[in-house]
Amino acid sequence: MRIGIFGGTFNPIHFGHLRAVEEVRQAVDLDKVFFIPSGYPALKTWDLEEASHRYRMTAISVKDNPYFEVLDIECRVPGRSYSVDTLSELNAQYPDEEFFFILGIDAFIDLPEWRMPEEIIGLSEFIVISRPQYSFMDVISSPYLNPEAVKEGLLRLDGKETSIFRSSLRSGRSIIFTSLTQMDISATAIRKLLRDGKSVKYLLPQDVESYIISNGLYLARIERGQKPEGGSGLKQQKQSH
Ligand code: ATP
Repeated sequence: MRIGIFGGTFNPIHFGHLRAVEEVRQAVDLDKVFFIPSGYPALKTWDLEEASHRYRMTAISVKDNPYFEVLDIECRVPGRSYSVDTLSELNAQYPDEEFFFILGIDAFIDLPEWRMPEEIIGLSEFIVISRPQYSFMDVISSPYLNPEAVKEGLLRLDGKETSIFRSSLRSGRSIIFTSLTQMDISATAIRKLLRDGKSVKYLLPQDVESYIISNGLYLARIERGQKPEGGSGLKQQKQSH
């Protein structure tokens, strides 16, 4: 089977994630996609909800899609989770399956800051998906790509001459770049709307919105010790890959 792996903080999961993965599943002919909510770092961040909530919201979101499954591999143990461990564990658990690690352009750019990125790029095939406010050429200086080999394809994607471009990583693994329906939704923006008491309708599934409201998630978290206004808390979350 060809299995997509889509990790994230999913804090909360939204239609930007869900639609992107549904499109990439079809574009790349995946048999299944595992959604993997990240663990919860020991050092609390002020607006990262607990892993159990993020897991449940992800489970609610994927329940009606037979191709989607949520795994608790990263969030069942307390503490920070790392993609390198997740990919190694999945490879060991499913030795006959072919894995495709799905990342937005922003996440692929961040990859050098993750734990053991050189290992990561050897553990799976890769799929990099478009994300509003980023262009594919933003990845040209990635240390895991050969710029001469990818430049023309990335320019064609940015110029909308094609919606898919296949190449390879320096590790020898394949990398597929694909352009999808652009949905300019971020969890950061959703959290801000919720803190400001504004509607998040049509940005995420109705059941997730109900879950957030009934559990009182994403209200101002002064008690977690960091200042809500100004900083996004984003950097701390991104470092948990
Ligand atoms: P935050 O705003 O809290 O950083 P996020 O919306 O970026 O959250 P993550 O859970 O960090 O969501 O993202 C998981 C993955 O989904 C990443 O690879 C990211 O690039 C991708 N992604 C997130 N939002 C979108 C979107 N609107 N379109 C395409 N890809 C997205």
